Amino acid sequence: VDLGTLLTSRIRDVPDYPRAGVVFKDITPLLADAAAMTALVEALAALAVRHQVDKVVGLEARGFILAAPVAVRADVGFVPVRKAGKLPGECLSQAYALEYGTAEIEVQRDAFLPGERVLVIDDVLATGGTAEASVELVRRAGAEVAALAVLMELAFLQGRTRLETVLAGAPLEAL
Ligand code: IMP
Repeated sequence: VDLGTLLTSRIRDVPDYPRAGVVFKDITPLLADAAAMTALVEALAALAVRHQVDKVVGLEARGFILAAPVAVRADVGFVPVRKAGKLPGECLSQAYALEYGTAEIEVQRDAFLPGERVLVIDDVLATGGTAEASVELVRRAGAEVAALAVLMELAFLQGRTRLETVLAGAPLEAL
């Protein structure tokens, strides 16, 4: 089977989670499957190598689970982007709109050397709000976003279209 088929077969639809009317994509069966997880990490690490990145950035929390092994496999550093208030020391913050209210994410100010190339990784791209804020945050911290990679893109929410402007030509890779 091809990679997309393998990965999709290990992602479970959970209806009405986290609230009524939402079908949540649950990646825990994939995380628990050694063959699928290895194939995923290898594919993401190949992207890190192809884009010649210096760092891999993981978005809290499921992005961490993917980005850390990818960083090791690609032999580059890992940088966490976290929800506000979780990182010690001087941080940069980026607020963004949610369906109801706002959210705020942070990265440490000294996380990158100037101009370092990074691969930003998350599990699921939905509306694109989280990814958009992350790309802006990472750039403000002085790095260059070489690519954004997600395990799964919920295409019907049109996050890809929303990200066009902020990505400015950097590829969005959905496995
Ligand atoms: P967005 O900001 O609307 O694109 O939402 C993406 C963020 O919410 C990512 O950090 C995902 O981890 C999380 N997310 C949204 N929908 C799902 C889902 O169906 N499964 C897992 N995570 C999701």
